Amino acid sequence: MEEIYQELGISPAVLRRGETVLEGLKERFEAVDRVAEYNQAKVLAAMQKHRVSAACFAATTGYGYGDVGRDVLEKVYADTFHTEAALVRPQIACGTHALAVALSANLRPGDELLSPVGRPYDTLEEVIGIRPSPCSLAEYGVTYREVGLKPDGRFDYDGIRAVITPNTRLITIQRSKGYAERPSFSVAQIGELIAFCKEIKPDVLCMVDNCYGEFVERMEPSDVGADMIVGSLIKNPGGGLAPIGGYICGTGECVSRCAYRLSAPGLGQEVGASLGVLPALYQGFFLAPTVVAGALKGAIFAAKLYEGMGFRVIPGGDEERHDIIQAVELGSEKGMLAFCEGIQAAAPVDSAAVPVPWDMPGYEDPVVMAAGAFVQGSSIELSADGPIRPPYAVFFQGGLTWYHAKLGILQSLQKLADAGLVKL
Ligand SMILES: *Cc1c(COP(=O)(O)O)cnc(C)c1O
Repeated sequence: MEEIYQELGISPAVLRRGETVLEGLKERFEAVDRVAEYNQAKVLAAMQKHRVSAACFAATTGYGYGDVGRDVLEKVYADTFHTEAALVRPQIACGTHALAVALSANLRPGDELLSPVGRPYDTLEEVIGIRPSPCSLAEYGVTYREVGLKPDGRFDYDGIRAVITPNTRLITIQRSKGYAERPSFSVAQIGELIAFCKEIKPDVLCMVDNCYGEFVERMEPSDVGADMIVGSLIKNPGGGLAPIGGYICGTGECVSRCAYRLSAPGLGQEVGASLGVLPALYQGFFLAPTVVAGALKGAIFAAKLYEGMGFRVIPGGDEERHDIIQAVELGSEKGMLAFCEGIQAAAPVDSAAVPVPWDMPGYEDPVVMAAGAFVQGSSIELSADGPIRPPYAVFFQGGLTWYHAKLGILQSLQKLADAGLVKL
């Protein structure tokens, strides 16, 4: 083992450090595997119930009328996430697009959007119009309010109660912390928040940005009252195989409005050719529970390893996880770059590339990203990124296999050690 790792550039000292950390993680990893087993059964049951067959894998072109594979896939998603309906489409370009569709389809001029969990993910600032942007919700007369979390990371129930008005139409709850330094929320916590909001205003719609959360727990936010859950297929539910796409699962009414917004009023879910990507979407969804389990093991391993080296990690090494993201505060731009170099060097694709920060569309600060992925930008594949700003945290996620995630983390530590930023 030492030899093969050395061939990959991992010194015996780094490997030993990793092995010591792993000895303490057996029980944690077993718990992760049990969740994966449960979720695998859930996906399989949905596929069997809807009689997935070879006929579902055919490619359609043009309008895509009567695309059986597309329609069955949407039923499989809806059933797995226990919702009335689902929109699962390659025409949804990414997670931000899925969220923008869900919001703009279900908010009308004069409505107010509320985020009771603080500032949403960077790219949503322009969707909402927090940062002025052409075609934002603000331009169409949708107002926005947010209530931050309490200093201890809990929901500010009094603050939320105070801002829910007759105009509050939709409440957006982001499950994962994104690039923020708050904790990610458990499905149970999200359920409590939804129940609280609906008690104050029973007809308010609750949408959960489910990015990076799918299959981390046995339940999803749609099991605890969310009217819509929304995510990207190049994150968890695509299982690493989906080459593109996004999903919106929820009530029949919300989802059909989303379909009209995505295509056109009157057309809705009836159009949208699948262009041959359906086999990857089915197979990816089938693999997703185990892929997510591998990614979770990588996140836990990274947390324990870096915590042991004296870095602040979010979540902490022993904390429960609600998404696949692991933040490590490296304290300097140099540290971020070394960490990302390691992740890049461990990749199966583009391992010789050196990540450099750039001004990504939709983000305010330069962002450094490391990913040697089969699907460009896929962050269910091993990847690390972060905006270059204090406290200089990298957000690490993914890994199609646990062993690859492990190598990436060892490689990141190796690069930090080589740069003299840590002592082993
Ligand atoms: C990734 C992500 C998004 C945006 O998804 P893209 O596919 O990058 O557009 C939104 N919210 C959260 C919490 C995310 O992690």
